[in-house]
Amino acid sequence: MSILTTITPLGSYRNDSPYPFCPGCGHKSILDNLNAALVELQVDPAQTVIVSDIGCSGLSDQYFITSAFHGLHGRSVTYATGIKLAQPELTVIVVMGDGGTGIGGTHLLNAARRNIGITVLVFNNFNYGMTGGQHSATTPTGAVTSTTPGGNPERPLDICASVGVNGAGYVWRGTNFDTDLTERISEAILSESFALLDIWELCTAYFVKSNQFTRRAIDSTLEELGFETGVLYRDGRPEFTVAIREAGLSSLGRPPDGPQPIPSEWTAQLDHPFLIEMAGSAGGRVRSAVRIGAIAAIKSGLYASQRDDYPVTVKTGHSLSRLLLANRPIDYAGSEQPNVLVVLTDDGYRKVAKRAARMTGDAVVYVLPEFSTIDTPARVVVLDPATLPGRIGKGDLALVVLAAVVEHSGVIPIEALRSAVAAGPFGESNLAAVAHGVALAAK
Ligand code: SF4
Repeated sequence: MSILTTITPLGSYRNDSPYPFCPGCGHKSILDNLNAALVELQVDPAQTVIVSDIGCSGLSDQYFITSAFHGLHGRSVTYATGIKLAQPELTVIVVMGDGGTGIGGTHLLNAARRNIGITVLVFNNFNYGMTGGQHSATTPTGAVTSTTPGGNPERPLDICASVGVNGAGYVWRGTNFDTDLTERISEAILSESFALLDIWELCTAYFVKSNQFTRRAIDSTLEELGFETGVLYRDGRPEFTVAIREAGLSSLGRPPDGPQPIPSEWTAQLDHPFLIEMAGSAGGRVRSAVRIGAIAAIKSGLYASQRDDYPVTVKTGHSLSRLLLANRPIDYAGSEQPNVLVVLTDDGYRKVAKRAARMTGDAVVYVLPEFSTIDTPARVVVLDPATLPGRIGKGDLALVVLAAVVEHSGVIPIEALRSAVAAGPFGESNLAAVAHGVALAAK
């Protein structure tokens, strides 16, 4: 007996909420066309993401039953790029205004260069509507806005030419009044390339009032500027996520590995969050040592979050690294006082001196002998690498001391630390550093 399953096609991708836009605003008709295109394509709403920018068009995503992402002004294309890279099977649609286009213009150029497979709908009404009708990157020359009361002296950005010459896979310009808009949106989504539709429309609250702008004025402005309409660019080169997969295949001879989970092989006894802060200098491999500590913690069944702090010069000054450990997922890795502070150098101490002075009596500060008189109410443990046989190199000191702290505090099994260093680069010398740290803790 065969079982027949009938899937009812979706008649709409809209929810029941009415749009909030001003009467006559072009946004409604663009979104109606987007809805019609989605109905035509019958995409899975859970596998479709509308990424919205800021502004009146940025309100759009909440009226659809698809997945959604709403972020900062001008950055929607970057979020969409990340979403597509993480899950190439998703249909990713950006809705943004001409304000976001101007603010995040370089993101559009780079997305076009890459030919990342997202579809961008630009709701282009020549001004910032939500904030009071200021001029934008697409305001026509001479147009009156709240920030160009004497007429805009700038030439408007040709969005289509900009992304087109930079390699966009599909570029169309038209208006929300065009009867083929639904078809063009569908075509753009199906192109599976970086697709952009520059959709000219009316902001009835501001631009229409300030410029007696009409539907006919859209056509005459396009003509005066020499901006062509219709499908302006098509480029059949491979979409970015496909291209990088193929590049990985040809260099590795197999699909590249994604992130691999770190298996936990040991058990750490930790019933509350525990923060270790290491304060040293640039070039001292402080961050590398703490990263090894984070891997060891994960190998011990803990959650770990690492935060680093160093100056922009990178090779001079302090290098701080904080390792927050917990037995549950870490939602906030902010600025609590450390349970353990490790002071390695003057550069590091200058940055944490105030923190050390505020620590409590149940916390521990591990220091080299030169910091033994450190100003802190915490318990001070002095570690002296000079007592070890042989000389400890500057690049090994952070790991030696971290191993001593791990052994002395017992926060993570030392075997987990050994395993973490053995698996990484410099395995042999790092194992020796851990052995030195264990010896140091015993003194
Ligand atoms: S302010 Fe302009 S863009 Fe915003 S909803 Fe009103 S008409 Fe539309």
